[in-house]
Amino acid sequence: MVSSTVATRYWHRTGDGRVQCDVCPRACRLREGQRGFCFVRMRQDDAVVLTTYGRSSGFCVDPIEKKPLNHFLPGSSVLSFGTAGCNLGCRFCQNWDISKSREIDTLADAATPQAIASAARALGCRSVAFTYNDPVIFLEYAIDVADACRRAGIKAVAVTAGYMCPEPRAEFYRHIDAANVDLKGFTSGFYHRVCLAGLDPVLQTLRYLRHETSVWLEITTLLISGLNDSDQELDAMTRWVAGQLGPDVPMHFTAFHPDFKMRDRPPTPAATLARARRIALGNGIRHAYTGNVHDPAGQSTYCHYCGELVIERDWYRLGGWRLTSDGRCPACDTPMAGVFDGPPGTWGARRQPVQLAGIRPAAPDSSRRAQNPPDREEQPCDSTTTHSARCWSTA
Ligand code: SF4
Repeated sequence: MVSSTVATRYWHRTGDGRVQCDVCPRACRLREGQRGFCFVRMRQDDAVVLTTYGRSSGFCVDPIEKKPLNHFLPGSSVLSFGTAGCNLGCRFCQNWDISKSREIDTLADAATPQAIASAARALGCRSVAFTYNDPVIFLEYAIDVADACRRAGIKAVAVTAGYMCPEPRAEFYRHIDAANVDLKGFTSGFYHRVCLAGLDPVLQTLRYLRHETSVWLEITTLLISGLNDSDQELDAMTRWVAGQLGPDVPMHFTAFHPDFKMRDRPPTPAATLARARRIALGNGIRHAYTGNVHDPAGQSTYCHYCGELVIERDWYRLGGWRLTSDGRCPACDTPMAGVFDGPPGTWGARRQPVQLAGIRPAAPDSSRRAQNPPDREEQPCDSTTTHSARCWSTA
């Protein structure tokens, strides 16, 4: 059993008797015994410690499309987990029972990095995702899990708000293979009023990921009526992404449902998501998707050059697969941006909660079989093509 409290590196003394955590721009200044805004980092014995190492709020096998990542090992399953706490304070949080948890008892599952990697392999998952809450705040645990996974041939995925300081950010992303970053809006006012955070550090993280790492990047924006869904804001956001990050970074526009401290806003209409997608495509984003609604046309992948439908998708379920064996459009030979490795998975839309205790390590040669288990809910993909591992940018 690992200790749940471990030493951390990114902090310094301030000279006024406090210590400052340097993991995220919130820069919590702590006296002895105080916890940071995220609740899981605190000052103990005159140093900043992480109090939730090796503890999880639960594990689930999900489709990778649920993260959402549409261009990273499509159709594969991912072992998802989170801890407790968060370094943002979004009033609309869709995972508030975890992110706002003040009960370490919420963290029911004890899980060493090696146990998580072994479980992912035994369950046939191609990747492990740090999700439900932001891995920024449990940096040390996430890095050790990512390393154990890489040794087992499993990739590491971060689902994050990207609100992080440069030095820990550089260390963190050396261990990560793919990230979906929430770009929660495109005004400082929205970030300050609704998320209790700032926009600029998030934009810096997006630029860093795109230009200084090989991490596969996709972006998600949860659209909330009247708060971050105006034509003007969506136009500015998607122009910035196309101009600063390039046209190959996929963007996902997902639907809000009333939750946590924001129950006075209606669910996002599907028409709003479609409008956002049109604006993004009009500004040069090559792959823009709608999410949290049924919209096969807005969730499928098309060749950006000739418009050919190459991956059919409805919510998290894959349909037809028409990329060539080397990941090109069959009509015009244009390469598709993304990370692909072999035929698409057939996990389908299932969400399967799991408990790590009792999962036995898989025999080495069984992982590929387990990767695509018989799927009782889903129709198998109609493609027999293969495509090799790569990460393209044609920007
Ligand atoms: S990671 Fe947590 S303790 Fe550190 S600055 Fe951010 S909110 Fe504060």
